[in-house]
Amino acid sequence: NYRCRSAFKLIEIDDKYRLLKPGLSVIDCGAAPGAWSQVAVQRVNSTAESADLPKGSVVGIDLLRIAPLDGAQFLSNHDITAPLTHMALERLLPEARADVILSDMAPNASGLRELDHERLVTMCLSALDLADKVLRPGGSLICKYWDGALAHKLQQRLSSMFQDVRTVKPRASRKESAELFFLARMFKMR
Ligand code: SAM
Repeated sequence: NYRCRSAFKLIEIDDKYRLLKPGLSVIDCGAAPGAWSQVAVQRVNSTAESADLPKGSVVGIDLLRIAPLDGAQFLSNHDITAPLTHMALERLLPEARADVILSDMAPNASGLRELDHERLVTMCLSALDLADKVLRPGGSLICKYWDGALAHKLQQRLSSMFQDVRTVKPRASRKESAELFFLARMFKMR
């Protein structure tokens, strides 16, 4: 039972690309109400439900409050762009490092397509700044974006940091017509 239907987008992407494995450490940016974190908890085994598999960890961050979830640690009322959030994150992450960064962040839509696109690209860039600080070499990132003029620039930035970058459109997000995800794998050594 997921907190939000958005869970099915992550399930669909991860069923295909298998980023979330038992033992991995995940950051979920824009985690409220917590559906993606629920999926991540199951797949990285952060409740140690499968006693014979490695135990992972999940840290979710959101400006809003996120109700507690077994197997996840949440930074509610935290902005992912704030330096204080980065400090809190590094304390919560094992060895201050993550294997996977998820971002389903979105701004409150203004209805102005170009403006919303630009704001969401800026949020993706914040997730990339976070990757620069904490992502392990070989790690991966999934970030939501709305298509538009800056998508190509964002993709170039991703390609400079990751070996494999592609756009994915899960069937579960068919309704939200402009919504796409970048899937970036094999984070390069700094
Ligand atoms: N993936 C979530 C789930 O499955 O439950 C849904 C995420 S919802 C589409 C987008 C979230 O991004 C909102 O809860 C919003 O508060 C959050 N958000 C937007 N800007 C943020 C920021 N700067 N820092 C942290 N969270 C942010």
